[in-house]
Amino acid sequence: MNSHPTSKFDRQERLTIWDQSLIEKSSVIIIGIGGTGGEVAKNLALLGVGKLILVDMDTIEYSNLNRQLLFSKTDIGKNKAKVAKKVIKSRYNSSLEIEAYNEPIQSLPFKIFEDSDIIAGCVDNFLARQYINETAVELPLSLIDSATDGYFGQVQSVNPSNNACLACDSPPPPEETRVLSAPCTLVGTPRTRDHCAWKALYEFHTLNDREPDENSSDDIQKLTDLANKLAAKHQFPIFDNKDIIQSVLYRVPSLITVNAVTSGIQSQEIIKTLFFNKMKDLKKKDQNRMKSLVQTYRFRVPDLTIYSALTGNISSFELFRDPDCMVCGDTSIFQQTPVTININPNSKCRTIFTVLKRKFKKNYIGFRGNFIIPNEALVKNVLQDGDRLTASSLTDDEEKRVIIRFKTKKG
Ligand SMILES: [Zn+2]
Repeated sequence: MNSHPTSKFDRQERLTIWDQSLIEKSSVIIIGIGGTGGEVAKNLALLGVGKLILVDMDTIEYSNLNRQLLFSKTDIGKNKAKVAKKVIKSRYNSSLEIEAYNEPIQSLPFKIFEDSDIIAGCVDNFLARQYINETAVELPLSLIDSATDGYFGQVQSVNPSNNACLACDSPPPPEETRVLSAPCTLVGTPRTRDHCAWKALYEFHTLNDREPDENSSDDIQKLTDLANKLAAKHQFPIFDNKDIIQSVLYRVPSLITVNAVTSGIQSQEIIKTLFFNKMKDLKKKDQNRMKSLVQTYRFRVPDLTIYSALTGNISSFELFRDPDCMVCGDTSIFQQTPVTININPNSKCRTIFTVLKRKFKKNYIGFRGNFIIPNEALVKNVLQDGDRLTASSLTDDEEKRVIIRFKTKKG
């Protein structure tokens, strides 16, 4: 009779290219704990990743229960990240270090990203995806992003400044496949008609401090008007209400099998990327052994993988960085070294923005650099030490990156 293996991870440790110690030393931040994010969190916990940071501000709804296996009926109305943390720890891996955040990613302390080894993007909305992409490029940090839409799933790997980011204009993959990520940049002039709709959505958010309600004809009209203002200005065909719903308010259909395949692919690419990124921490001898295995087995992380549940095809593609990309391109604001401004810790937000506006003679200030919005809208935000902002002018679209540092730690 065989003796019992001593390690819970015995079966995976038997694999040729595997180093459990690298995985155990890794920290992954998962944004969005829904259909795919919940699965990714469960997979990574079972694989023995050392630390997970779960971020989701949504609450659990009845219609989530058919595919989000971390949640049950008694959890309805509770926060997804918090429940997932409890369930994963008790059910799958009690030694896992795990943190849960119930807030918009834009207000997470930046340090959480800085301390992570990789970002897993599992969100279903454009604004969050854009923020994640920009954060990955700025740090830089590897990002493995996923999206699903009905019978289709895709996983994109962003290795900043080496391959395409989510905002790069890459040549489209072949006809029969679909790229699901929305265009990712709203900075500057809208380049397509869809950008006008996305910009309008963002403006709606800024003006009303909430998402538009897809069931409110009033909200949809407001959104259409905002988009048409931009479409007219930039000479794109105008939108009717139906176009707007289709462009930005469309709730995608979702299938548990597609979620499972997509999150499986995403989890695997996360593990491989961790191997690649952490290989340098190994002893020289082990490093060389790993490198030769990587070559022999043609171990690689594809830029884009697309799964079609209709045909059963899984295809992978190369995506090239666009040197003119507004996020990762050579002249992008995210490539600039930020100007650090020291400010008295007791200053009010309004004062800080007035200082910035005067210093840069800029009309628009973006909070944490994610968007360019009128500074008045930011007055009620609370700044934290080390926050990143952008200052931009309405007339020339030129932007400057700024980091706010408080002179002494806020009490
Ligand atoms: Zn890019």
